[in-house]
Amino acid sequence: MNCREVLQEISLILDGELSPEKCEELKGHLERCTECFGRHETERLFKDLVRRRCGCEPAPPQLVTRIRFAIQVEGARSE
Ligand SMILES: [Zn+2]
Repeated sequence: MNCREVLQEISLILDGELSPEKCEELKGHLERCTECFGRHETERLFKDLVRRRCGCEPAPPQLVTRIRFAIQVEGARSE
């Protein structure tokens, strides 16, 4: 599994849509690869934030923009 594949699967693992085997494979990669790990952490925090805000109040737009920007920067670096 290379970084590109991992990045494609990160949102799936966070949504719990990956098979257990894929999950293990992906986690193994995250343990070795700081770049993918950073990207995974950013996405996880973003999803957490959205979920927590859900049904109560929208996330502050500046914060969303900041996190989205961080995700883009991480993504661009791994191209
Ligand atoms: Zn990687």
